[in-house]
Amino acid sequence: MKKDDNCIFCKIIEGKIPAAKVYEDEKVLAFLDIMPVNKGHVLIVPKSHSKNILEDDDKDIAACMKVVKKVSTAVIKAMKADGFNIGVNTERAAGQAIFHTHFHVIPRFQNDGLHHWPSGKYDGEEITKVKQLIIKKIE
Ligand code: AMP
Ligand code: ZN
Repeated sequence: MKKDDNCIFCKIIEGKIPAAKVYEDEKVLAFLDIMPVNKGHVLIVPKSHSKNILEDDDKDIAACMKVVKKVSTAVIKAMKADGFNIGVNTERAAGQAIFHTHFHVIPRFQNDGLHHWPSGKYDGEEITKVKQLIIKKIE
């Protein structure tokens, strides 16, 4: 199990700082986000430290996704939510502030005032070029 002594989520996992835990198993911990987008906003984290999903072990990601589903089901029922978003902010440019892999489960309500990110568009054949660029990088 990897650990970073300067990581706030590692400290929560170790029990050195408190958190409102809602689920725990051998590999994964889930707790309430202290600054929720909506009440019932949960963070799901692997117990082994990695800075983001690109550096996380595939088995830990799979374990987290199972818990994302389990917790989302509970959040929907408990908060009487109409839906939920799963978010994974990766790197500063995408809004990542805590560099320990985590999945946000954010309950959503009809007319909760939140807006989706804007929709863009491709010009002409650009979509084909972008598709090829990505295909070439798939390993
Ligand atoms: P991100 O921007 O994806 O890195 O999200 C980090 C999240 O961690 C934010 O939504 C914070 O509100 C949340 N957060 C930071 N410190 C704590 C803490 N001690 N307990 C619970 N949530 C936290
Ligand atoms: Zn950590």
